[in-house]
Amino acid sequence: MTDAATIKELKESPIAPGQLLIDGKWLDSLNGSTREVVSPIDGQVLTRIADADATDVDLAVKAARRAFESGSWSDMAPAGRKAVLTRLADLIDAHREELAVLGVRDNGTELEMALKAEPGSAAGSFRYYGESVDKIYGQIAPTSTKALGLISREPVGVVGVIVPWNFPLMIGAWKIAPALAAGNAVVLKPSESASLSLLELARLAMEAGVPDGIFNVVTGSGATTGEALGLHPDVDVLAFTGSGGIGRRLLNYSAQSNIKRVYLELGGKSPHIIFADAPDIEAAAACAVSGIFRNSGQVCIAGSRLLVQREIYDEFLDRVVAGAEKLVVGDPLDPATDVGAVHSLEQLEIDLSYVDAGMTEGALLRTGGKRIHESSGGYYMSPTVFSDVTPDMRIAQEEVFGPVLAVTPFEDEQQAVELANSTALGLAAGVWTRDLSRAHRMIRKIKSGLIHVNCYGGSDITVPLGGMKQSGNGHDKSLLALDKFTDVKTAWINLGA
Ligand code: NAD
Repeated sequence: MTDAATIKELKESPIAPGQLLIDGKWLDSLNGSTREVVSPIDGQVLTRIADADATDVDLAVKAARRAFESGSWSDMAPAGRKAVLTRLADLIDAHREELAVLGVRDNGTELEMALKAEPGSAAGSFRYYGESVDKIYGQIAPTSTKALGLISREPVGVVGVIVPWNFPLMIGAWKIAPALAAGNAVVLKPSESASLSLLELARLAMEAGVPDGIFNVVTGSGATTGEALGLHPDVDVLAFTGSGGIGRRLLNYSAQSNIKRVYLELGGKSPHIIFADAPDIEAAAACAVSGIFRNSGQVCIAGSRLLVQREIYDEFLDRVVAGAEKLVVGDPLDPATDVGAVHSLEQLEIDLSYVDAGMTEGALLRTGGKRIHESSGGYYMSPTVFSDVTPDMRIAQEEVFGPVLAVTPFEDEQQAVELANSTALGLAAGVWTRDLSRAHRMIRKIKSGLIHVNCYGGSDITVPLGGMKQSGNGHDKSLLALDKFTDVKTAWINLGA
């Protein structure tokens, strides 16, 4: 547990303006342009960051290419890369509180959650991928004895990484760590509204011994900095987490430029399904509440559609509404807070527009639906529960990415599956039942990359996370993530007649 005096000191400490990291040097953007960083806690300006344009992005990609081709990293023995990346993991652990508080000031996540999900998870990722690379072998194909088929993996070259504002350190590390471990050079574009903790990560990466040019950071807007990276003809792979709309653009950028490989981790509209035979109704209700409201619903796998079997619908709904009303919403750095700030004023307005949509389309607002603590200057919203939601409503189809839960009754297993699969997205799901056979049938029939059984959330680096349908392609986490950042090469060697 972090002590209050340390948090207060970190909360009040000034933050130096952020620069670009290109070829191991901290630089202003060439045209000197910068942008404000506003804290969602109180709406105050925290600092400024550099606003990179296409020229800066080009410099970063060229530096990455040069560093990659020099072999300073890609030709290093895997054990050497392992030593650097595990050192970086240790440095993240040593700076855990600074990194977490910096991120919370930037994006409003509750501190307890941020400590675990941000530095905790990022350190774990660098350690896991660092440790993995000197344990993975190539293959020899089962050919006739007249030839030798060698199958090996090579780094792809320059990897562009574009990440969102929720959990920037964790999601950034899920991509940066395997990309670096595999021997690539990286150009990272953080979200313009959550760059600070990733800039600090870059400083620690330099301290850990990542060679100049192997890890570059370009901050700035999606429309300028992100687009320049997406269109750059010398980026080999783009690894993206964010919204479906921007994911589509990246696919276009690839088609317009060098057909770079594009991996997309996109949004979800995840069903959380409660059967009447759930083993523990109280635990299921508590999980339904935390599954949507932690981090103000700004979690890609948030269980934003609650499907409840008719026999227990009224009782379960009452429990969920009561649970939502008990949550303390407020300053994410206050230990008494359960739910922190909505990330930005723009996001808050989107969330409230979905409350209007729910009411207009005939769902019943059971609790919440309002901006609160406005006098603080920050962006807070009361946990919101709609019941009697039908599958055609916007709040049942579209990702809100805010604290809004849509609750729908179902009659039987078949209808639960139909409702679960009734959106274009397929990121996560949850099923509560004590019937093991039914749990397995649901696992098989629900189209989503991740399914929880008798729980929601909680996982670790050893299991992959990726979407089905329009929730994306490829995987973060686990050894599967290395596939994105490596090319497979076959050598066919003639052993003589
Ligand atoms: P976003 O798509 O608006 O932005 C993501 C990143 O893309 C940011 O860095 C942004 O600057 C950049 N970007 C924006 N426009 C761009 C352009 N034209 N070209 C290139 N880059 C551009 O998403 P967001 O609002 O930051 O994050 C929320 C979204 O992320 C939600 O949809 C959420 O579900 C999704 N998400 C998915 C996962 C997952 O693992 N599947 C995890 C977390 C968040």
